[in-house]
Formats: sequence, C-alpha cells, structure tokens
Amino acid sequence: MSTVHPSRSTAEALLADGTTVELRPLGPGDHKAVLDLHAEGMSEESRRMRFFGVSRNAPARAADRLCGPPRAGLLALGAWVGEELIGEADCELLDGPPETAELALAVADRWHGRGAATLLLEHLVHTARAAGIRFFEADTLFGNRAVHRVFADLGLPVERRYAQGEVRVRVPLDEEGGERYRSAVDERGRRADVASLAALLRPASVAVIGASRRAGSVGRTVLGKIRRGGFAGEAWAVNPHTREIDGRAAYPSVRALPAVPDLAVLAVPAGAVPAVAEECGAAGVRALVVLTSGLGPEQARGLMRACRRHSMRLVGPNSLGMAQTDPAVRLDAEFGGAFPRPGTAGVAVQSGGVGIALLQRLAWLGIGVSSFVSLGDKYDVSGNDLLQWWEADGRTDLALLHLESFGSPRAFARTARRVTRTIPVLTVDAGRSAAGRRGAASHTAAAATPTVTREALFRQAGITATRSIEELVEVAALLHAQPLPDPRGAVAVVSNAGGIGILAADACAEAGLILPELPARLADLLPPGASVHNPVDTTAAVGPTELALFLRALEREEAVDAILVCIAPTALCESPGQDPVRALLEGPARRRVPIAAVLLDQQVPVRYRGCADGGMLPTYSDGLSAARALAHARDRARRLAEPFSPPADAPDCDRRAARSLVDGHLTAHPEGGWLDPLSTADLLEAYGLPLTTTVWARDEHTASVAASGLRRLGHEGKVALKAYWPGQVHKSVSGAVRTGLGSDAEVRSAYREFTRRFGGELAGAVVQPMAAPGVELLAGVVQDQVFGPLIVLGLGGTAADVLADRVARLAPLSELDLTAMVAELRSAPLLVGNGGAPPVDLAAVRSVLARLSRLADDFPELVEADLNPVIARPDGALCVDARVRLERRPSFDPYLRRLRRPAAAEAE
Ligand code: ADP
Ligand code: MG
Repeated sequence: MSTVHPSRSTAEALLADGTTVELRPLGPGDHKAVLDLHAEGMSEESRRMRFFGVSRNAPARAADRLCGPPRAGLLALGAWVGEELIGEADCELLDGPPETAELALAVADRWHGRGAATLLLEHLVHTARAAGIRFFEADTLFGNRAVHRVFADLGLPVERRYAQGEVRVRVPLDEEGGERYRSAVDERGRRADVASLAALLRPASVAVIGASRRAGSVGRTVLGKIRRGGFAGEAWAVNPHTREIDGRAAYPSVRALPAVPDLAVLAVPAGAVPAVAEECGAAGVRALVVLTSGLGPEQARGLMRACRRHSMRLVGPNSLGMAQTDPAVRLDAEFGGAFPRPGTAGVAVQSGGVGIALLQRLAWLGIGVSSFVSLGDKYDVSGNDLLQWWEADGRTDLALLHLESFGSPRAFARTARRVTRTIPVLTVDAGRSAAGRRGAASHTAAAATPTVTREALFRQAGITATRSIEELVEVAALLHAQPLPDPRGAVAVVSNAGGIGILAADACAEAGLILPELPARLADLLPPGASVHNPVDTTAAVGPTELALFLRALEREEAVDAILVCIAPTALCESPGQDPVRALLEGPARRRVPIAAVLLDQQVPVRYRGCADGGMLPTYSDGLSAARALAHARDRARRLAEPFSPPADAPDCDRRAARSLVDGHLTAHPEGGWLDPLSTADLLEAYGLPLTTTVWARDEHTASVAASGLRRLGHEGKVALKAYWPGQVHKSVSGAVRTGLGSDAEVRSAYREFTRRFGGELAGAVVQPMAAPGVELLAGVVQDQVFGPLIVLGLGGTAADVLADRVARLAPLSELDLTAMVAELRSAPLLVGNGGAPPVDLAAVRSVLARLSRLADDFPELVEADLNPVIARPDGALCVDARVRLERRPSFDPYLRRLRRPAAAEAE
C-alpha cells in the first residue's frame, strides 16, 4: 500500500444547524488548538469515551500524534468555526490488516448534537478513499451511544464485534451500496442548507446598511419598502453620516444597533463591502443580501471570507433583494416593484430585470408568491438552495427559476430530480444552444449540440423549460390551478367555430398531444349540424346550457385526458342567454381532467376566470399557448408516472486505479489535455470498458514485432496500425490509420509511410488486432455547463458525422435510461436484428454505457470521452478507438457536502 498524503485542500460546509465550518487537514501549527479541544473543550466523561481510561496526558498525546511532523499513513482533519477548532477526525493506517485505518473522532462538548462528527467523517471518508483506504476500524466503549449513532446514521454499512464492554467497529468504505450513502449525505445536506437559509428567508430583524437620506437611493428605497411592507420584526438603518432617516433613528454602525440583526442588506459602495461584511459577521449577523454591484476580485474575496468565517449565507452581490410574504414575516427587502401578494409560488431569478417582469406577470394573473429572491451574481445562495427551501417551507407548491448558469451543475440536476417529484419547477431556458461545448473537438462533443436539446435535458431533470417569460407564465397558470392530465395526454378540442378548432387541434398535434376519436353519441347533446370528430365543432348556435352538458359528458369519457375549449365571439354570443363563455364560468373549474379555454376576444395572453366552484379557469388568447401549456402538463404527468429506476449497475470498477491515473496525468499536465493511447487504455480497463488489445510501437521494428504477436488475434489474421502524435484529432482523415494489414511487409511499409508523412511530429504508433466487422457505434461523455456530464450514444464510425444519429442523457444513467437510449436511436433496427441479420449483444452495449456513466460520475475531471467506434456484434461489443480529455476541476466529489466557491472570489 502506498503512503498516504494528506490533501491540503480545504472546504467549507454546513453543520446541521446551518453553521458554516471550515474543514482542513491538521498540521504542526494546530498543536495548541488540538490540545485545547481535548483538554478544555471536552469534559472528563467525553474524554473517557474518547480515550477509554482517563489519562492526564491523553490530550497532549493526541496533540503530539496529530500535529507532529507529517507522517505517512496518517490523515487528520479539523473542523473550525472562526478561530475555534470544534472537532477533529483522523485515521491512521494499521500495520496488520491491509488498506485498513484506525479511526478516531473528537468533538468539543458544546458543539455536540449539531452533526459535526458526521460531517468530519464524511470528509475523512472522501479523503481516505482517495488515498486507497478501504476500511475504517475503531474501538468504542459499549456505552458510547453518541458514537454508535454517528456510525449508524452515516449511511455506510457497519460491522460490529463485541468483546468485554468494547465494540470493535469496522466500516467498509467501498462504493458498493453507494446510493444509500449518497442519499444519506444528500438528506443531511438538505437539512443543513434549509437551516442555514432561515436567517435569510425568515429573519426576525433586519438592518439596511448604507441607507442614505437621499430619496431614490437604493438603500433608502429598500428601507422604506421594508417599513411600509409591514415587516413583522425590527428594521434598523445603519449610516455613519446621518442620525435619522425618515424620522427614525439611524445608527452609525452594526455594533451600535440595539440588538444583532439576523439579516443585513448592504447598499454600500463596492469598496466598503468587505469591511462592512466583516463587521456584520463579527457582530453575529447570520445572512447578507448585497445589493451593491461591480465588486473587484479583491472585494469579492473579502466578502466571501467574511461570510464563510462568520457563518453568513449570502445573496448577491448585484441582487435586487428578496421578499418573504409569509404573514408571520412580511419582509419586502427589494427595490424591484410592488410587494408581491402572498401565495404559493417561489420565484428566484439571476437577472433583476427578469425578476421584475416575472413578478409583474404573476401579479396580473393573480398567482401569489411565497418568497422571491434575486440571486444576482450568486456568490453563495443559488437556485439549488432555493429549491431545497421551497421543498421544505410548507408554503410553496410551484417553483419558478430564471437560470443563466449553475455553480454546481451536478448538485442542481440531482436536487431538481428530487424536488420536481413534489412541486413543479419551471424555468426559462434562454436556449444558448452551444453552451458549455465550446472548444470541444471530438465527435461526441461536437455531436451533442444539434441532437440534444437543452429542453430534453431539463425534462430529464424533471424541470419544465419554457422559451420565454410569457410561456412560463402561461404554463404556470395551468399547473397552478388545474389537475395534471393522464400521462397519455389525449386532448378533446371543442370550439364554436370550426376553423378555430382546427387551428387549435394542429397546435395540439404539434405539441405532441394526441386527439382521440370521440363517440358519435355525444353529437346528440349539441345543436344539429355539430360534428364530434375531434376537434368538436359545436356550431355557433350552441348555447351555454348545451355546452355545459356537453363538457360534463366529455370529462367523463375514458378517451379524454384534457379539454381545450375555444370560443370565438360570434354575434350570437352578445345575447347573455346565448353566451357560451357562461357555460365555462358557471360550471366547475376543477374537473376530472384539466381544462384550458381559448377566448379569442381576450386581450391579454393569459388570465384566470373564477368559476362557480371557486376554482380558477385559465383562459388564453390563442390556441397555441393553451396547447403548449397542456403539453407541458402532460410531460410533468409522464415524469411523475415514471417508476423509480436505480442507477445502472457497473460492477468491478477499479476506482483507485483510475484515480491514481487521473491524478498522475493532471500532476504532470496541470493544464489538462488528451490522454495518450496507453493511459487511455489503462483508464478504460480500470472501469471494465472493452478496448481492443492496444500495443505501443515506437518505431518500425517494434511495430513489426508487435504485429506478429497480434496478428493471430486479428480478424482474418490482420492488424491495424495507427500513427500517434500528441494533440492529434481525427486520425483517418489525416491518413494516420491503416487497417487490414496482413503481412510483416505491409506493417513495415505502413510505418515507413507514417514516418515520411508525419516526420518529426510522429511519436510512435499503436498496433491492434483487426476487430471482426459489426455495427459501429459511438459512445462518449461530454460536459454540459448547466447539467454536468452527459452520456452520448450514436451511430459511429466514419458515417458518424453525416448521419448524426445520436441520443444523450444526463449521468448517472438509470437502467431505464439505458433502455431508452438504445430504443431512441434511429439506427435501433440495426441493433435488434434487421433483415435477417442477428441482433447485436445489447447487454454488452448497455454495459459500455453504464460504465461510462459511472466513470463520468466518479471523475468530473473527465471532460470529454469519445469511444468511436464501439463495434457491436452478436457476440459482444469492442472499442477500437478511444480518446479521453482531462481537466483539473476544483471539486472532485459531487456528493461531498461543501459550499460552493464562486469563481469571482477564488484566490489567485
Ligand atoms: P479515427 O476515428 O481517429 O479516424 P479510428 O481508429 O477510429 O480513427 O479508425 C477509423 C476506422 O477504422 C474505424 O471507424 C474502424 O472502422 C476502422 N478500424 C480502426 N481500428 C480498427 C480495428 N482494430 N479493427 C477493425 N477496424 C478498425
Ligand atoms: Mg475513431
């Protein structure tokens, strides 16, 4: 077993109560802190539990052991709140059992019960795994319930052996059963996140810092809104230059306030932000909303430092503010528009302008807001945080997000998949088609863009993505007030003017909805001349009573999952006794199936009309909008109906071998880049990806020797020879691939040809046995800026670019994803046996995808992988060409709980 090197990287993360702690390896400089922790931070009883017999030297021995000169085999991690070391977790390799380390944990008494031990352990597990440790062992006292609880809750399997009042605990750290551990980590992360946001979203007191006397200044405007909005708590103004604002006292500093505010809203010049933030933190403020924009890098770092050190969550900078409509809080701390009406829609926007537009439209429509946050430059609090808050706040049943970028795409996709199971999440996708794929050179990367719409990716994450704010509001109107349709999505279109109905039916069909046949007997309910072929034409003569009866009959039809009623204002409608709109308003808004109305004389795109049952009927000015909204609702219903599918199985992946390969490459090439052919082969092998035998040859002679060994493995006794030089892109187009070489003379002449053609550039060549022919597929990984890794499957080989037959899905792939990917290929018939050809080994193709998914999920550093072709045959699948590109990534475990570090505030 190799020596263990403590990682120097530090992270910030949240305790269960929302306190920010810093986690970093312990070193010689921490001797006194460790001594204090054990000697003063812990009672005698705690020490007895920790060290068994109480020895007066125990704290000193612990400090010496953990903070001596760095020792191979020891990993020690400290958790700090400000300057205080509140706990430590360490493990040290044992002499006896291999890959096993003795674990120890200590948390200061006054920090017990806040999840510090679990958090330390999670991070130690992460570091230990990376260092090749596979088991933790610890002796614990039988009566040490706290420690046993920590182990039990961790989410990893725990083996216990009992002997004489002691329990020997053994925890395997392997990835098997990883989903249970990940869910446990997720759940803890969710709770801590929500706890940390309370000071921001439900503060009991607020200070506005930088509120000036000048009318129209940002600070003063916000202060005025907070006061006029009827904030339930205390609101103070802080301004060193004035004694009063609007007839109320202003205080010279945060320290001078009568009490410490939970939340501070900063409207000070950029240069003052770091110092003011630090002052707030030192005073005990728990959250900041920074309205100031234009912070330079130094100011950004100063702000972040203050927030992390003092456990403050941060909205902004460059935020428009936030609003909480809960009557128990009533906080209007934003300078956007009118205070939103209380309601159940959660709104978070990155751009302030979009926020104003969105709130205004929701107000026109009559959808109230639970909380609103303008995220601004999103140094800390992001859409992800808000989704978790709304999931838990008991008031929100609809989430509206405007997204431009994500701090941690993987975390977002994972959270969204969960949250969208309970509440609909709607977003405007600006449709930046090439996002995140710039600079991509391989087939897979270039391929992903045209075929994989971001809309499809949003759908996989369970999010309803719209193309405009208008569309967002139109869909929200339906989802907010109407039931979801059956996932089948069969719509009955009804109109009082045939042509309008046909247009609406076209819109439905284009949106992917189906229009079922309706029973002829329904025609009996309508005036003579009516047609009940879907779309239904009631004729203009239809009266409110007839239409009401007809709708009632329609909603009971098994074939109907949703109703779209279009009403054109004919002259007949002008007589109240004849107005078909009355049939809608005097009937129920909530029926067995969702109903949307199109009123052609309506001037606004969408509005609500109150119905007899007190429910709301969304009415649209045009059929396209209504059809689109119904299609989104159908998509959501489908999503909710999907059974849970576990992550696809990829047994026997050697994560440690792959980790050391990736780390090794990135240490040698900090700027990242493509792996050479042999490292690529090693990486794929570690994850069980079937690359054909690949032998390196540095000259003509070694090529000839290698070929003679490989020839008998090759199809018809032949080999392939491929020239290699660093940075090469497509080999065959530049004449770097020679296939079907049967004799030694052919191999030698091919190599000489490479030398002539590529000269000094040529680094060598790889020799492979010729694979038997089959269906050439491509399989790969690309990174999407928003969603993280996508797994791509397509038709491969030289036809790849011409036919562009590809599907992509978010990693990690589920078993269902695997099935869907293969089925969605246009070339699927080639795989399942076409025209008498035997079907290919689909299990082998699925295994390639599952393993790629696992690899991408385990290694965010893998920014691009392109296996092309993977030759699929009845007897298996074999890759003959693979390229992998690595890049250093700041965080390498998506499931490790840690706060994001905004790029703007990263240290130089
Ligand atoms: P590139 O994609 O860089 O042009 P490849 O290594 O994929 O180069 O080779 C191009 C084509 O040559 C493949 O699509 C495949 O049809 C064929 N080929 C390459 N290597 C082999 C092999 N070992 N066995 C069979 N066919 C091969
Ligand atoms: Mg290729």
